[in-house]
Amino acid sequence: MEFNYNNTKINVKQGFNEIGGNFIIIENKDNKVVFDQGIRFSRFKKFYNVNIQPSNALELRKLGIIPQSDEFNKIFISHLHLDHLGVLHLLNVGTSLYVPDKDIFNVFIEPYKESSNWTAYVSPPIGVNVMDIRDNGNEVLPLSVEHSAYPAYSLYYNNGDTRILYSGDFRLSSPLRFLDSDLHNRIHDKTLLEEYGEKGLDTDVLLVEGTNFSSATSPMQPHYFIEQINNIFDSHNNSLIMISVDPIDLEGLASLLLITKMKGKIPVFSGRRLIEMTNLWNSKFQLVDTAYQFEDKSIEFNIIDEEEILNSPQDYVIFTVKGNLINFGRRLSDASKGSVIISISTESKAESGEDENVEDNWYRALGFIIYRLRMSGHYYPYELKNILETIKPKKIIPIHTEATSVMCEYVKKLGYSCASPSYNSE
Ligand SMILES: [Zn+2]
Repeated sequence: MEFNYNNTKINVKQGFNEIGGNFIIIENKDNKVVFDQGIRFSRFKKFYNVNIQPSNALELRKLGIIPQSDEFNKIFISHLHLDHLGVLHLLNVGTSLYVPDKDIFNVFIEPYKESSNWTAYVSPPIGVNVMDIRDNGNEVLPLSVEHSAYPAYSLYYNNGDTRILYSGDFRLSSPLRFLDSDLHNRIHDKTLLEEYGEKGLDTDVLLVEGTNFSSATSPMQPHYFIEQINNIFDSHNNSLIMISVDPIDLEGLASLLLITKMKGKIPVFSGRRLIEMTNLWNSKFQLVDTAYQFEDKSIEFNIIDEEEILNSPQDYVIFTVKGNLINFGRRLSDASKGSVIISISTESKAESGEDENVEDNWYRALGFIIYRLRMSGHYYPYELKNILETIKPKKIIPIHTEATSVMCEYVKKLGYSCASPSYNSE
C-alpha cells in the first residue's frame, strides 16, 4: 500500500491491514530507507504445517511470506521478533543491517545458526554487516520503546522533505514498572513519549501499530497480572510451579523472577535459549542471585537434577520455553501430576504462529493445572489518545493491525487525520 506526503513516497509493502511481517520503504528523490523485513506468519500458516516445511528460503519469498529485501543494501530493524527481523539468509553480501543491539543480536541468533529446520535461514550469511542501530550516522533516530522483545525502538526519520515516525511494536507499561521501578529505569532510561517531548520532535506522518485493536481477547493490565501471579503462587504453595516465558521479553521475565524471589523460591532454567538469554540479562541488569539450570549444551548456572526438584517441589520454580514443559511432564509422568503451569503469551497468534490446542491437550493428559495469561507487548486502544496527544502527527497510517478502518474512524474522532492510499497503490 502506497502513500504520498509532500514529495516522499511511503510504501507499506507488508504489514498493512495484517499483523506481522512489516516491510516499509520510504523514499524521495535523494534518499531511501527500509524499516523491518519480517516474516508474515499468517501467510506462512497457509502453506506449511508439521508435514510440510519450507524447503529453502527462496521458496518463502516466492510464496510472498518474506519480502524482496535483497534489493536494498541498508535495512533498519526495530526489534528482534521474527515478524520484524525476518529471514536474513537471502540478504546480499555487503548489506548494512542495523539491529537494536549488536551483542544481544549475536546471542539471540546463535541457536538459529545450528537449527536443523527452516529457522536456520533466520541467521545472516557471512558478509552482511551487522551494526548497532545507534551507530547509523544520524540518518535515522532510534527512540527506545518498551515491548515484549528487548531492546525495541521506534524509528524517527527526517529526509528533509517529510518527518516520519515509525512506531515499530510497543507498549506503554509492563508489570516491571510496578514491581521494581529502579530496575525498570536501569533497563529503559527513557521511553518513547518522554524522549519525544524532551527532544522537541515534530512528526508529519506517524506509522503506528494497532495490534490490540484487533485482538480476540484483551490482554491483562500490569497490576492485574501481578495480582494473578501472586494468587497462583500463594494457592499452590506446595506444588511445583512451571512457567513458560519468551526469553527476549526482558521485562516479563524480570517481573516473574522478582515475584519468584519475593515468594522465597529459587528459579531453575531449562532450555538453551532461555539459559543463554537469562545469563546475558543477568550480566547486564543483575536479575537473580541464586538460580539453577538443568543439564544443557550451555552451562551458565549451577546444575540441578530433576530428582532434587521432585524431592522439594515447593522450593523451586521452573522457567522454560513452550514445548519443554510437555517433555518434562512426559519424562516424569506420575511425579509431576498436580503441578502448576503458568503459560505466558505476549503476542497474538498472527505474530508467532503457535497452536495452543495441542499443548492444552498434553497438559490435561499429564495432569497439570494450567493458567494461561496474556501480557501484551502492545499498547491498549484506550492509550492511543495519549500517544497522539504527545506526538501530534499531521497524518496517521495504521499498520500491524487487522482493524485498519476501525483505527482510522477512531483517530478521526480524536481530531486527527488518517492518510489515504495514493491512487495507483498496489
Ligand atoms: Zn514485536
